[in-house]
Amino acid sequence: MAVVYLSLGSNIGDRVGYIQQAVKLLQVGGNVNPVRFSTLYETEPWGNKHQEWFLNAVVEAKTILSPVELLHHCQDIEQKLGRVREGVPHWGQRTVDIDILLYNNDIIDLPELTIPHKHMHKRAFVLVPLLELIPLFKHPVTGKTMSELHDELAQPEDVFLYGTIGV
Ligand code: AMP
Repeated sequence: MAVVYLSLGSNIGDRVGYIQQAVKLLQVGGNVNPVRFSTLYETEPWGNKHQEWFLNAVVEAKTILSPVELLHHCQDIEQKLGRVREGVPHWGQRTVDIDILLYNNDIIDLPELTIPHKHMHKRAFVLVPLLELIPLFKHPVTGKTMSELHDELAQPEDVFLYGTIGV
């Protein structure tokens, strides 16, 4: 059984609803069992600024899935909830995006999967919710705590408290 941290985000339509549905779908088949949720944050788009603001949260969960099985499970959910990849610019709008941030203390470097997520240390929308859950957890590659990584953000994008996930 692994402890994982997943970042959930949405910036189209019923953003809260998409995030809630993603949490429900994660649990189908007993694959992923949420343990704790961060607060929901409204966040400025990162990377590609010309799009709607996102809602983001982080889920701490236990899973029996391997890292690649977990990735495929997350991708199935993104597809089920209507995310269209074709024709959408990178870091573009999405009904729901699920990123695997951490999988135990594991370091994974596969063509389709990098864990810890390769951008997590640069993103306030990931680090702020992680601060609620695991401020002292050390990034498996850099050895820096989530709190230290957050303090080091040079120009963090805006992240505002929005509410609870409500699942
Ligand atoms: P994005 O469009 O930002 O959601 O990126 C999706 C792509 O990132 C997929 O093709 C995944 O195979 C790849 N990827 C690499 N590492 C991860 C990760 N830790 N979590 C989710 N997707 C990942």
